[in-house]
Amino acid sequence: MSTRVGVRTSYVILGVGLLLTLATAFWFEAESAHAYALGASLIGLTLSGVLFGVTRAELRARMRAERVAAELRDSQEALHESEERSRLTLARALDAIITIDVEGLILGWNPQAEQLFGWPAEDVLRRRLSEIIIPPAYREAHEKGLARLRETGDGPALNRRLELSALRRDGTEFPVELAITPVQLKGAMVFSAFLRDVTQQRQAQDALRESEASFRLLFAGNPLAMWVYDVETLHFLEVNAAAVAQYGYSREEFLRMRISDIRPPEDVDRLKDVVAALATVTVETRGHTGPWRHRLKDGRVIDVDVVSHAMVFSGRRAALVVATDVTELKRSEATLAKYAERLSILHEIDRAVIAAAAPVEIAQAALQRLRPLLGVPRAIVNLFDLAAGEVEWLAAAGRRRIRGGPGVRFPLKLMGDVDALRRGELQVIDVASLPRGPEAESLLASGVHVYMVVPMIAGGELIGGLSFGGASAQFPPEQISIAREVATQLAIAITQARLYERVTRHAEELEQRVQERTLALGAANEQLQQEIAERRRAEEKADHANRAKSDFLSRMSHELRTPLNGILGFAQLLEMESLPVDQEESVAQILKAGRHLLGLINEVLDISRIETGRLQLSLEPVPVGETLRGALDIVRPLAAQHGIALHAGAADERQHVLADRQRLQQVLLNLLANAVKYNRTGGTVAVSCEEILGERLRILVRDTGHGISPDKLDRLFTPFDRLGAEGTGVEGTGLGLALSKHLVDVMGGTLDVTSQVGVGSTFAVELPLTAAPVEALEPRGGSPTVDPAPPDARMVVLYIEDNLSNLRLIEQVLGRRPRTTLLSAMQGRLGLDLAREHRPDLILLDLHLPDLPGQEVLRRLLDEPRTREIPVLILSADATPGHVERLLAAGARAYLTKPLDVRQLLALVDKHAPGERG
Ligand code: ADP
Repeated sequence: MSTRVGVRTSYVILGVGLLLTLATAFWFEAESAHAYALGASLIGLTLSGVLFGVTRAELRARMRAERVAAELRDSQEALHESEERSRLTLARALDAIITIDVEGLILGWNPQAEQLFGWPAEDVLRRRLSEIIIPPAYREAHEKGLARLRETGDGPALNRRLELSALRRDGTEFPVELAITPVQLKGAMVFSAFLRDVTQQRQAQDALRESEASFRLLFAGNPLAMWVYDVETLHFLEVNAAAVAQYGYSREEFLRMRISDIRPPEDVDRLKDVVAALATVTVETRGHTGPWRHRLKDGRVIDVDVVSHAMVFSGRRAALVVATDVTELKRSEATLAKYAERLSILHEIDRAVIAAAAPVEIAQAALQRLRPLLGVPRAIVNLFDLAAGEVEWLAAAGRRRIRGGPGVRFPLKLMGDVDALRRGELQVIDVASLPRGPEAESLLASGVHVYMVVPMIAGGELIGGLSFGGASAQFPPEQISIAREVATQLAIAITQARLYERVTRHAEELEQRVQERTLALGAANEQLQQEIAERRRAEEKADHANRAKSDFLSRMSHELRTPLNGILGFAQLLEMESLPVDQEESVAQILKAGRHLLGLINEVLDISRIETGRLQLSLEPVPVGETLRGALDIVRPLAAQHGIALHAGAADERQHVLADRQRLQQVLLNLLANAVKYNRTGGTVAVSCEEILGERLRILVRDTGHGISPDKLDRLFTPFDRLGAEGTGVEGTGLGLALSKHLVDVMGGTLDVTSQVGVGSTFAVELPLTAAPVEALEPRGGSPTVDPAPPDARMVVLYIEDNLSNLRLIEQVLGRRPRTTLLSAMQGRLGLDLAREHRPDLILLDLHLPDLPGQEVLRRLLDEPRTREIPVLILSADATPGHVERLLAAGARAYLTKPLDVRQLLALVDKHAPGERG
């Protein structure tokens, strides 16, 4: 719209410029048309320029106008040039002078005539003038005039300036100015004709005439209101039709009025100043442009842009005025400005949102611009706290300042009907209707008598209201539409800003929490590290203590076994003698005590091994039936002694459990022995097996003893706790069950018990079932039976042993075989030498030797061809099964543990006697 207005205005200005150019040329009545044109052009241009300067809004139009101005300047320069040329020509050209006689014959023909008409003098002298320069159409008239002159001596052409058409030699006609003067030449009358080519003057006059007509046309028919007034009297001198139509006065009325009559009274002084200036300055430069207000005949006042230009009109100092009605333009400009301002407020809000401003800043930024735009004394952005039934000021704009909330709270009632607001409806509230209170007082004090609340809704949620108002209850639609737009935008912006604040706060909290958690974790970690380190230290300490304990036990058991070996060995020898009854009793006591001590030592050693993880097991499929039979066989004498019946169900010979054969037997023996020991006289012990889901096997040992009371059950597997049995005379160490449980555990099984006082107990060993090995192992027998009859053959036995007591024992034992010779060596190397030298029938080898380990002695014996065939029996206090197996695998014939079973040893010696070997 503004462009169209601009273009139109530019055309108007160009028109006015041109008009003034022509008008000036017309009124100046200058001598030269060129001068007019020049002057007028200059004035026109100046005016055009000034006008262009005024309409600053239309840049494009101005550019076009500048182009036009440039073109005008160019043509003006061209004009100036040609004008200069003709001025020079005229200056140089003297009039052509032709002298004729009364007959019309040419007497004189000056060079200018030659030039003007194209005839050389010699060609025209004595010829008739009418034939040479008078166009044929005028020749007759000329001849007639001449004839009259001859007759009367006078003619209308004489002594007067005439304008005529003349003929050149080339046949072209042109206007000439002519003055004919009669001259008495030598008594005869001749005529001198002075001729001048007036072609150019003619043309200028024609142009002027055309200009005049154009001006009249432009002035009279111009759509812009125009008038000319007297700068001294301010009377209208002339008005055009447009002025008459626009202002409502007739031409006659205008011509009776002064220009001050169409001004509002307050503008008259300013008008007089302007007119005075117009009147004093020189014609060329004076002019006035500017905005004015004019009163129409009907009383309306319009805004006009006025262009005045000083001039002389009918001899009076006057000014030409062109008035353009810009009322509409101004109105649309104002509307446009308001729209721009509206848009700018919305942009302001957007900018604040983008800059992540706080809600209060957004509200302040918007209010600062909004209040003046709404034209109210007060505007407030309120946030609703619907839950609390309160409203909080986010920001308020008064005439003088912007106040930022929040903090000021007042009742929600002041916002009108909240439900209506929620529906998007506006509320108009009369302050007088509010209950008297500080809020109402404050509103009235700030000039608000009626206010409007525009709901602020974002995402369907009513978050607040934009309220504004003043003295009047009139809220124009435009005001409401602005307020609505801004309220909507504010609602979105504030919601976003709150969201942003919440997200930021959340992120900060999260970060804080992460930091705290990291710190806590760090501390916990440190503590954990400390605890781990402490635990490790404690474990190391415990490990160390355990190792020390275990080392101590192992050393102690070894140290105990060696003397025990002697005690038991010699006691056994004594037992074999026929002794008096009381001594026989004593020997039996020695043997019983010694064996008890040996059992104790072995069990303590086993438990300590298990605890330090040094117990070596070889898990393999163990035939359950066979193992049970073996254990029962061993226990049978004990059962018989106690008068206890042993019952064993038929065993499934294919059942195998994954276990260490020797250790399983140890456990079963222990359970069976307990079942016998803690039974009642005439009681029974029943052994049975049951499969669980085909995966595990439970071996049950049930007795009919006195049972174990529930309060003692949990102490059952505690080492050395005999649950009071120590006072009953039943022998025991209190280690059996503890060891058994340990053993079953490490074999991957369980040992548990159910017992009923007075009824009996059932101990159950549960182990994983496994498939039978491909080759059935050769069943191992119990302890070899001793043949009491000594063989006849002579035999040499080498005993490699560093302990004197042991040596003595063996000497005594072998003393029972009189045909046997004993060689002894207290060092390994010596033993090897003796073996090589004497090639004994049997070698007894101790493992703890001062120079070489017994194992190494064995290896060397087997490596040496001379000794390779000699059977070697190991005699050692170390009863560790792994150890035993290793040595047997290395080539030892048998492994006997100390303390020695004398009968067993004798049986082995007899077995390897020369006649017995096979
Ligand atoms: P002990 O060498 O004393 O037999 P055990 O460890 O084998 O040691 O048994 C610990 C204690 O448990 C026994 O002293 C006894 O009091 C009790 N006990 C073990 N077996 C039975 C059983 N079958 N009936 C009753 N009490 C038993």
